[in-house]
Amino acid sequence: MLVLGKLPGLEGDRKSGQDVRTQNVMACMAIANVVKSSLGPVGLDKMLVDDIGDTTVTNDGATILNLLEVDHPAGKVLVDLAQLQDKEVGDGTTSVVILAAELLRRANELVNMKIHPTSIISGFRLAQKEAIKYVNEKLSTKVDKLGRDALINVAKTSMSSKILNINSDFFAAMAVDSVMSVKTVNSSGDVRYPVKAINVLKAHGKSSQESRRIAGYALNCTRASQAMPTVVNKAKIALLDYDLRKYKMSLGVQVVVTDPSKLQAIRDREEDIMKERIDLLIKAGANVILTSKGIDDLCLKWLVQAGAIGVRRVKKDDLRRIAKVTGGTIMLSMAGMEGEESFDPSMLGQADKVYEERVGDNELIVIEGCANQKSGSILLRGPNEYTLDEMERALHDAMCVVKRVLESNEVVPGGGAVEAALSIYLENFAHTLGSREQMAIAEFAQALLVIPKTLAVNAACDATELVAKLRADHYHSQQEKDAGKFKEKSCSGLNLRTGVIHNCLQAGVLEPTMSKTKSIAFATEAAVTILRIDDMIRIDKTED
Ligand code: ADP
Repeated sequence: MLVLGKLPGLEGDRKSGQDVRTQNVMACMAIANVVKSSLGPVGLDKMLVDDIGDTTVTNDGATILNLLEVDHPAGKVLVDLAQLQDKEVGDGTTSVVILAAELLRRANELVNMKIHPTSIISGFRLAQKEAIKYVNEKLSTKVDKLGRDALINVAKTSMSSKILNINSDFFAAMAVDSVMSVKTVNSSGDVRYPVKAINVLKAHGKSSQESRRIAGYALNCTRASQAMPTVVNKAKIALLDYDLRKYKMSLGVQVVVTDPSKLQAIRDREEDIMKERIDLLIKAGANVILTSKGIDDLCLKWLVQAGAIGVRRVKKDDLRRIAKVTGGTIMLSMAGMEGEESFDPSMLGQADKVYEERVGDNELIVIEGCANQKSGSILLRGPNEYTLDEMERALHDAMCVVKRVLESNEVVPGGGAVEAALSIYLENFAHTLGSREQMAIAEFAQALLVIPKTLAVNAACDATELVAKLRADHYHSQQEKDAGKFKEKSCSGLNLRTGVIHNCLQAGVLEPTMSKTKSIAFATEAAVTILRIDDMIRIDKTED
């Protein structure tokens, strides 16, 4: 037996077997309980205040979990799970966490009933595989059949639980148009919709209805000097990650000057070095200079003389995206190949036009007609910082789901329809198996119902009755389908406003198929990762 206290240089604390499993499951359930009440169109928001008083009001699972300081190692697996879903799909973060915690809870009960974790894991994996197959083959519908309305509805479903819900028609159209405007075909012929090419800007004031799209990549910056032109056509953009300020000798270099006239010579040379750098940029053809650092007055003067637009303090992320869309390269210094300073014109990004536009009290720099990739911007208007931040998150999620639907072209009905259909299918499937996995698959089927149940509870409906009706509906349609009587897909889901069952496909409650399949796969993987742990050893280094 391992006695940690006796290991040289290590002091430890060890928990194993069922204790550790129960502890891990409890930690995961505690985390899922935090986000549970924010699921669905009638879910509520959370206000999170950090130690310096910064406040975030949100409904987005990934954002909530990111801001919570989770210490428990198993709890961190769920936080990572939400982030993974956010990165891969962009939406469905709350659902994936709730599902993973429910799978774990049920698995733990099975372990308590003396079923070996390995059997549960293989049962869960089998159920996941079958579920994904069933969703892809039997529940999903091609978007071509549904047209642009499907895209709008997918965006609206994603927004339904968020702050944009009140103006969902307006923002759904904005999300769909923005994503479609950045359509690109890559070298292997694949059509892509890079959401990152859409910059979302926020400006205080006016109502959210006055948010608008801007053609081109817009930046929340101004020209460094009012004397610079407001428009530059056929723009060649230098993207610099260094200061344009008077050259200073490096710290630590000591120069002893005995003749005072030489001091002026040193100052003049410092100025000359900067002038030569600006000349190199202008000679290379640059007429727009964006830098992530500063530009001093002297350099501004030379840029004004050259008729160029200079913009300072551009965010690094923006610089990176502009480099991508304009085909430019970010320069870290002016050093050339042989140590001499130079600037290669091929490093410049290109665009049809760069101009400054005034919006309320702010100015924006807009780069229009980028050479390498299409780009777009959205300017959000709203009353305060919290609202604008939450609007940005909601819009981002909506654009991500539209992108997924455009790329994979398939949708499934929302409102718990998929989960209910899967639970019936998997229960039937479990009965056909005579192996050890049978019980785990049946529990997996039950665990999926946590989504419609939570949706109903959050909408103040009778969850038990509503979910029973939903399951009965899916049961009958699967029976009829098996008997060959009925060919239509069953799309019954919850109508949370009226508390009845309705056809979610017709009602326009749609989600990308990929979002559902990925969340089932990720939730299962996270549950399996935690289930596999049967020993937790905390190692504390002892001091010699
Ligand atoms: P997530 O972060 O997981 O996307 P949401 O709070 O956005 O969580 O809720 C998504 C769930 O709400 C999905 O299961 C979706 O099917 C359901 N949903 C969204 N809109 C509706 C609606 N109008 N009627 C019924 N269910 C809905």
